Amino acid sequence: LMLTGRLVEIGGEAAGDLPGFLRRTVARAGAPVIRAAIFQAVRIMSEQFVLGRTIDEALRRAEREGFLCSFDMLGEGARTADDAARHEAAYGRALGAIADIGAGRDGPEGGHGISVKLSALSPRYEPLQEERVWDELYPRLLRLARLAADANINMTLDAEESDRLVLSLTLLERLAGESVLGSWRGLGLAVQAYQTRAVHVIDRLAELARATGRRMMVRLVKGAYWDSEIKRAQVAGRPGYPVFTTKPATDLSYLACASRLIVAAPALHGQFATHNGHTLASVRAMAVRRGVQVEYQRLHGMGEALYAAARDLFGPMRVRTYAPVGAHEDLLPYLVRRLLENGANTGFVHQLLNDDVPPEDVVADPFTAVEAAGAQGHPRLPLPVDLYGDRRNSLGVDMSVASERARLVAAVRDFRPEPEDGAAVLAPATGMVVGHIAEATAAQIDAAFAAARAAQAAWDGLGGPGRATVLERMADALEGARERLIALCVLEAGKSYGDAIAEVREAADFCRYYALLARRQFAGEEELKGPAGERNFLSRHGRGVFVCISPWNFPLAIFTGQLAAALAAGNAVLAKPAGQTPLVAREAVRLFHGAGLPREVLHLVPGDGRVGERLVTHQGCDGLAFTGGTETARRINRLLAERPGPIVPFIAETGGLNAAFVDTSAQREQVLDDVMLSAFGSAGQRCSALRLLFLPHETADHMIEGLKGAMATLVVGDPAHPGTDVGPVIDAGARDRLERHLELLAREAKILHRLPAPATGTFFAPVLAEIASARFLTREVFGPILHVVRYDPRQAETVARDFAGNGYGLTLGIHSRVESFAETIRRAVPAGNTYVNRSIIGAVVGVQPFGGEGLSGTGPKAGGPLALSRYCVERALSINIAARGGDPALLNL
Ligand code: FAD
Ligand code: NAD
Repeated sequence: LMLTGRLVEIGGEAAGDLPGFLRRTVARAGAPVIRAAIFQAVRIMSEQFVLGRTIDEALRRAEREGFLCSFDMLGEGARTADDAARHEAAYGRALGAIADIGAGRDGPEGGHGISVKLSALSPRYEPLQEERVWDELYPRLLRLARLAADANINMTLDAEESDRLVLSLTLLERLAGESVLGSWRGLGLAVQAYQTRAVHVIDRLAELARATGRRMMVRLVKGAYWDSEIKRAQVAGRPGYPVFTTKPATDLSYLACASRLIVAAPALHGQFATHNGHTLASVRAMAVRRGVQVEYQRLHGMGEALYAAARDLFGPMRVRTYAPVGAHEDLLPYLVRRLLENGANTGFVHQLLNDDVPPEDVVADPFTAVEAAGAQGHPRLPLPVDLYGDRRNSLGVDMSVASERARLVAAVRDFRPEPEDGAAVLAPATGMVVGHIAEATAAQIDAAFAAARAAQAAWDGLGGPGRATVLERMADALEGARERLIALCVLEAGKSYGDAIAEVREAADFCRYYALLARRQFAGEEELKGPAGERNFLSRHGRGVFVCISPWNFPLAIFTGQLAAALAAGNAVLAKPAGQTPLVAREAVRLFHGAGLPREVLHLVPGDGRVGERLVTHQGCDGLAFTGGTETARRINRLLAERPGPIVPFIAETGGLNAAFVDTSAQREQVLDDVMLSAFGSAGQRCSALRLLFLPHETADHMIEGLKGAMATLVVGDPAHPGTDVGPVIDAGARDRLERHLELLAREAKILHRLPAPATGTFFAPVLAEIASARFLTREVFGPILHVVRYDPRQAETVARDFAGNGYGLTLGIHSRVESFAETIRRAVPAGNTYVNRSIIGAVVGVQPFGGEGLSGTGPKAGGPLALSRYCVERALSINIAARGGDPALLNL
């Protein structure tokens, strides 16, 4: 149950997965007994892996059982300033308790110590928040280090995500040079051998120790978050993985690091954390050969037998136990991690206990295994760029790397508007001129339609594969122009760097995905099965000239996506970007032309809604793709209905009123992360953004406190600064609409929290408000305002059905570890895109095809397999072969 990471309701469908005897037991015993049994099982496991609920309890047990410990205070990373203060206090208390029993008597090597998770000491321990890290986290760390130094005990900084490695080294560097820490030799860092940079980290630490004259303790681990590192790299479209992808490679890296660590003695003191017999024996052999004293470490609840055997074989050795301390509510994530580690079939412990694995395989030599595999990575782990197999994944930019960050910042700083006629386009954050654009005139529109119509047949005639080549070149061109496009998105649309990077990636993904569909679905005439004596064919073609009208909130991704779909299907296109963001659009059109798309096939038609209406009502329009507000779509629908001539397809992707339902089993930190991102990311200006959060009565207050605390850590400001989380809203009109809604909330609801907004620029800072009922909200409020509604969990289904009555159907979030809750909500609330235990934004092309139902859109989904279906006509051809005298194929059977 714990391995799947969720709690299961007993009975019903879930019981169907259990073996027979368990099913009968469940049926007979009933839920209360089973719950008690599970509770007991968790207790037993917690005792196995956790040393005590409090530091005093843990210390007593350590002394009683004769463990030398490094205590770890369990708990998730901080999400609020209060969390961070609470964690600091807990570490401080633990250090005090360890000092009180005189642990420092024998120096940092001989007594208990402590392990500190930097992410627990700050809600924003992130490379992009470095200033804050120095202002808030570092003083905390220094205070703890002084306590440890005064008591002369070991304090080791745990190793966390690879993105944070450089930051942790920077903090350590400063700490090592602090004179207030005197001649303390207990400062330590954990180094993960699975990271490809690991050996260089050891070298750097040795240099640092020598330069500062401070001996350091280095705990070498293989690393606990391998699967998360792989996932993160794939999601972010990194060029490679920051970790090795085969187990023997990590084992080998561990030995390479160990050898350097041993050689670096006495500047570094090696602490080798492993439960692997081969690793342990190899390290010991190296240490003995060089006559260096080292320490071994194991996790509480693991490795007892291994170290007992090692002592029998090698004699006395110093073994320290990593000893988690914490109350029940903090246990689960840690326990799940340990169970996963023990259950992994490549793991030493798992193999040791498996009778089917022969001993020589359990202790296989990693040198031989790595040599046999060559320099290859894991055969079943393609690089992030090859993730999809049939098309390339788009490349991301790693903002945690200072040089990549600097390149983008420079691109924004050095951006110069082009000298051109037309109206000025202003940056929402600063009011500066980003460029100029002239609105399309009626005569230009007529000419564009005529030229597009003349060029369309040849473009259609090129066929899917020919058009796919152009689209793929466009994808490459987008990535090639990434920096300029990102700068434009930041300046013209007020996007954060993260959002701007995602824009370019999504645009490139659309081009590659629709190229794939064009190859598959537009390859030519497809012969269909039928009776003898005739041949039947089906082919697909562009409809003619498509009009594409897009919003400003995804000025590149949606703009390019609509165009790519229409073009892939064989249409010529007139593209009207939103009035607020014509410059990004112009850049995209230039890239299309540069990628080999004939100029006449694609025309940029800048302008506002009036220009849009001219396009919609034009006789030359054979189909319309629109993304924007629900009201605008309704007006366009009426205009189209009144048009003489053929009825043309109208693909409309419109607004939403998106909610997330949280139940009492949801994990607080996960909810806070996902809600912050969904509601306030992109300043709430995504159609998928979270507007309504349903919280159960029992946990609502606790969650609301967390939400306020997490909001307080957000940085609202100019997106040209990489640390900005929330940029401006698009224009003064948008800000005024939000201000009016805020006034309404102040009058008729309750404002729980509001962040201050910068004085200049069109900013509207995040707001958290509580409303009595979801009915308060009847239409989309497009900005960073999150409405909280409390609900009675017994009424969850009724509440959800009532909410669904609003008629929208775009995105839906569910936070729960109970599967039946997720199913209930999903059945009650129709939504185009449902997300469980994650944010509700950021759909990926081809992975989460995107689009709503009801008031939220007509479909087909963008980035889905049916996307091109409404952009094309289908033509069937049937030839009666018998009319020629007979069917030769039949006669020659
Ligand atoms: P083995 O079974 O030999 O190795 C398992 C490890 O191999 C996995 O954990 C993973 O790192 C690696 N691995 C597995 N499959 C692959 C693959 N396909 N490609 C590449 N590598 C693979 N972890 C942290 O991240 N940060 C810490 O601060 C930390 N502190 C610790 C402190 C102590 C005292 C101990 C004992 C462990 C600590 N850990 C920490 C956890 C530690 O990383 C794991 O317990 C350790 O990786 C298990 O390795 P092993 O040698 O015991 O077992
Ligand atoms: P909007 O409806 O004001 O404008 C969208 C586009 O339509 C713009 O290019 C605009 O110039 C044009 N337009 C306006 N009036 C027109 C008319 N009468 N005839 C023809 N064209 C006209 O929307 P917006 O403010 O640009 O964008 C925000 C809206 O878009 C939000 O409601 C959001 O939910 C929605 N949206 C939906 C999706 C989706 O996939 N469902 C994606 C992004 C944005």
